[in-house]
Amino acid sequence: MTKRRVTIFGATGSIGQSTIDLIKRAPDRFEVVALTGGQNIDRLAADARALGAGLAVTADPARLDDLRAALHESGVEAAAGPAALIEAATRPADWIMSAIVGVAGLAPGLKALEQGTTLALANKESLVTAGPLLMQTAARHGARILPVDSEHSAIFQALVGEDMAAVERIVITASGGAFRDWPLERLAQASVAEASSHPNWDMGQRITIDSASMFNKALEVIETKEFFAIAPERIEVLVHPESLVHALVGFRDGALMAHVGPPDMRHAIGYALNWPERAELPVARLDLARVGQLNFRAPDPARYPALALAQQVMAQGGLAGAVFNGAKERALDCFIAGQIGFNDMTALVAGALDQIGSQSGLDDGEITLDNVARADHLARKAIDAQIARRA
Ligand code: NDP
Ligand code: MG
Repeated sequence: MTKRRVTIFGATGSIGQSTIDLIKRAPDRFEVVALTGGQNIDRLAADARALGAGLAVTADPARLDDLRAALHESGVEAAAGPAALIEAATRPADWIMSAIVGVAGLAPGLKALEQGTTLALANKESLVTAGPLLMQTAARHGARILPVDSEHSAIFQALVGEDMAAVERIVITASGGAFRDWPLERLAQASVAEASSHPNWDMGQRITIDSASMFNKALEVIETKEFFAIAPERIEVLVHPESLVHALVGFRDGALMAHVGPPDMRHAIGYALNWPERAELPVARLDLARVGQLNFRAPDPARYPALALAQQVMAQGGLAGAVFNGAKERALDCFIAGQIGFNDMTALVAGALDQIGSQSGLDDGEITLDNVARADHLARKAIDAQIARRA
């Protein structure tokens, strides 16, 4: 059997490490072409050595010497910086994992699609900021995108052998995040540490805080629209505290196909890694008799105002997704830095959307990498300007 050649963008992160865990368990099936990381040079170098990668890239040019030193006499090539990331996407591979966090993941993913490479997409920000560009690039180059976000992997699996024309609605679930059961009036005081602990999933800090604010689900609603080409009014969000049902697809005959599994990203990653086959995966087997109950409820708009913003973004279209994501990323930075409170994030992102929606600089609305970068930049500036006005 020929080995599947894989590259992992964001190898040092939560998704990247879960991907590496699966690859290390099946060394005879995979060959690692390249690994990329950011600041975590030790982990990047250790994994590149252990997996015999051809290339290791840090996104930060200032860390190149550190990476070179860590890879000394390993035979692994070292590189650094945004151009090196893009170059890594052109190294011949069969499968590329897109697991950089934030809009920084967009350009390498696009480059991978331009090579016709299968892209396992964890980086939802790519679809939120540039969905049409990503999908068109994949179509033009005959490249396949496999969703890795658990809800989207679940939908994808529920749709195997089905016709999209028979789909009436898609339901994605949300745990409700760290503050699901907090009194509303306490949310304004929520600390970064409190927002960084998820009830069910073990993930990177940024997506964990986005789960508490529901920005993550807002991004995922847009991701659903872009990836499955379904109208916004056919997408529903349900709060499901157990995080065992990841998504449901409703068909025109009334059937609902649910995807049920443990909250372990190695399922969705492993599904994409082995697609179109199903391989044995080291995830827990659910004992539903022991689980006993599954609960569902409609999300409370007062608790989760970010969900309404997703509707506004989808109605607006064009570069609104890039503005939304850029504003969200900047507001999250400011929350993590202790500059603003938890509730301020949604208020500031709403302000940025309103402000930039009417600006002429983004008039042509065409979704190109340059325009996404411009919208992203304006959105971040709009967040900072609102904070400066408050001070
Ligand atoms: P982490 O923060 O754990 O990891 C992010 C990765 O990206 C790290 O390798 C980091 O490097 C690297 N990185 C950070 N900034 C940059 C940059 N500017 N340029 C290049 N690389 C960078 O994130 P997660 O693994 O949690 O999430 C990754 C993506 O997957 C996100 O888009 C997230 O929304 C999505 N996702 C994650 C899930 C999860 O369970 N974690 C579930 C579903 C989707 P370093 O750490 O070395 O600095
Ligand atoms: Mg998800």
